[in-house]
Order: sequence, then C-alpha cells, then structure tokens
Amino acid sequence: LAPQASVADPATELTRRGAVMAAAQEKYYERPPQIERGWRDLLIDTRGRSYVDMVNNVAVIGHSHPRFTRAVSDQLALLNTNSRFLYSALADLCERIVEKSPDPSLDTVLLVNSGSEAVDLALRLARIHTGRGNVVALREGYHGWTMASDAVSTSAFDNPYAAASRPGWVHIADVPNAYRGTHRGAGAAAEYAADLARLLDDPSGPGVDLAAFISEPVLGNAGGIVPPAGYLSRVYEHIRARGGLCIADEVQVGYGRLGSHFWGSAQQGVVPDIITVAKAMGNGYPLGAVLTRRDIAESLAREGNFFSSAGGSPVSCVAGLAVLDVIRDEALQQNADAVGRHLAGRLAELAARHPMIGKVHGMGLYQGVELVRDRDTREPATSETAAICERMLELGVIVQPASERQNVLKIKPPLCLSRESADFFVDRLD
Ligand code: PLP
Repeated sequence: LAPQASVADPATELTRRGAVMAAAQEKYYERPPQIERGWRDLLIDTRGRSYVDMVNNVAVIGHSHPRFTRAVSDQLALLNTNSRFLYSALADLCERIVEKSPDPSLDTVLLVNSGSEAVDLALRLARIHTGRGNVVALREGYHGWTMASDAVSTSAFDNPYAAASRPGWVHIADVPNAYRGTHRGAGAAAEYAADLARLLDDPSGPGVDLAAFISEPVLGNAGGIVPPAGYLSRVYEHIRARGGLCIADEVQVGYGRLGSHFWGSAQQGVVPDIITVAKAMGNGYPLGAVLTRRDIAESLAREGNFFSSAGGSPVSCVAGLAVLDVIRDEALQQNADAVGRHLAGRLAELAARHPMIGKVHGMGLYQGVELVRDRDTREPATSETAAICERMLELGVIVQPASERQNVLKIKPPLCLSRESADFFVDRLD
C-alpha cells in the first residue's frame, strides 16, 4: 500500500473532517497516530511506524489475514447481501458454532451484527421464555451500547444521564473482585454469591419476577477480573432456583481468548442457558450470535419477532467461517494459552521487582496489569497509567486502560500474538 499523505496532526485533522467518534476513541493520546494498515499483531501508521497491538480483541486471527481477505472478497463478488433464501454459508456457520458449543443442550444459533445486538436479543429471549421481567447484572460489567445492553452495563449504573433512565427491571450485584472488593479472603466466592442471593430475596429485589442473570465469565472492562473459583456456579444455582435463566456474555472472552477453554463459561465450570458472542466471530466484519437451547429459541419464534436485515449476511457468514478455520488450522487458542502463560510469567517477574504493579489479573491473552501508587494501600495509579499508555505509544506499543478501571492496563491482543511481541511489550513496560 502506498502511504497516505501524512498530516501534521492526524487527530485534529480527522475531527475537522467530522470524525467525532474517531477522535473520541483516541481520547487516551495527546497526539494519536493515524493507523493505515495492519499485519498480524502489528498496526502501521501513515508515517510507516509500526506498533504492537495489545488492544485489538476483534481482529483475533490478526490484521489482514490473507485467507480471511480472500474468503470475504470472493463472497463479495458472488453474493453480497441476504437474498431472503437460505444459503449454505449460513447453515455451515451455525453448524460450526454448534460444534464448538460447550454443551449439547446449546444447539441453536441466531445471527446478528454485533455484541450489543446479541445481548439485546439474549435479554429478549430470557424475558419471553420465562414470561418474567427482572435481570441481575454485575457492577463494572459491560454489555453494549444499545438501550437494553446499555441498561445492564455499568455505564447505566453510574452515569447520571443513564442512571435516571435505567429501567426498574435491572438490578445490580457487586463485581466479584477479590483484589479490591468487599470480600478478599479464601471465602470470597461464597460470600459474593451469598450477597447476590440476599439481593434476589430482598422484598423489593428481583427474585420474584426473575428473568435472567447476565455476566461476562471473566470481566473485561472491570480489568480482566477472573471471579474466585466457584462463584459463578453458586450464582447460577441461586438464579435457577428462582426460575431465572443464566446468560454468559462471551463477546470478549469467547473464541479461545482465555487459552485454556474456547468459552469463558467453560473455564468457570458453568453451562449457561444463553451465550452471546461477537467481536472475534467476524474478525472485524459485523457479526454476532446468540447460542442457546432450542426450547428458548422456539419461544421467540412463537411469541416474538426476530428479523435482522444484515444479520448473518453471506459475507459475514463467510467471514465467520474463515475465522473458525484459521483459529483451528493455526491453533490460535493454543497460541493464546502458550503466549498467554509466557506473558503472565514475564509480568509476574516484573511485578516481583516493580512496586507499581499491584496485581496481574486475567489469563490467556486477556490480562489486566493493575498499577498502584502503593502496594499496601492499593491506591490506584490512574494518572500514571494514562502517562504510561502515552509513553508506550512512543515506544511502539498500543495499550490502553480498562474502561471501568483506569489504573489497569488491559491486554487483549489478536490471538496470533507472537512471543516476540509479548516480550517487546513487557520490555517496554519495564
Ligand atoms: N459485551 C461485551 C462483553 C463487550 O465487551 C462488548 C463490546 O465491547 C459488547 C458486549 C458490545 O459489543 P459491540 O461493540 O459489538 O456492540
């Protein structure tokens, strides 16, 4: 590719041209680069500088993968939109997702265009299937920007505009953060789950008219928080005992990111009733899905309406198939496991001699480096984290804070991250 004419200040230039969203996404940097192209785990700007991409949880198979590019462009030339008749790529993709299902009971797929839509649909399915209204979500969780997915996200809990509009059916339980939260000892899993049971049974609580519980199996925007072992299975028991369904939002952690398991819920030892997935699924192409039980999906067919003009279009489906092929053929889940362990080891080594690292959360290629001013008080090093991100950019690494925990460097690179790139990141951070 020929480099574009470079501009003195790309952010100002883009804003001038009306790209308000693009500018908003660059809020972390004083002088953000203008990224022109990508290759595997690298991004390259208009000046030809390359950066290790430690934040792109969408391009799981890597940027500009030739097999993906070829599959998508071939399909574009053949049939680029829904014809209103079934096509084989759609059936093939649904079948392939069901093959990856964590449990035989989850055998039905509904395709949409994004994670937010998948969450909206999951909430709708739960409410239609149970005939009930209430939903319990976790503080510091993130599930999307559409009205229903936003309502169960922290953005709606603490933002005054959204809190005023947060519907009465949404109830919030504490995030099970054993480093910072109210329960930190060996009993944290049971204590957090008991808190949630108390919330359910509060006379004005959600337990009576309970439709669902939704959570990320490992919480991304909260800083890569892995719930203490046994927490999620206890919560699922409490929810099911009261007739609710359990939704696992796997938009960030599904598709092998955790390394040890294809699904985050499997890593946590639970079988959800509904799984939502997106991001990785299309490697950047708009594609999301709900994976659920047939009886739940049939409730929607019976009593609701579900139609998406572009959801599961031929091009998205072919993109989705290419992603699954590459993950399998290039053993990317195994790479996430191996490089993730290597990275965790290097970060643990760094933490042992660097007083600013309070804790390394997460697993696989989904980690959170929590920066503190003092290890004993655990005071968050928030402004320092922003400065570190700016400096890392100069050193050739794109890394950003977790949105609900601005003192946590959130690590969520393409699953093809090389060991060399992981080392490059840790050496620069050091
Ligand atoms: N759920 C989770 C866990 C997410 O992280 C996100 C996006 O960051 C979403 C849902 C929403 O997905 P999308 O941005 O594709 O609408």
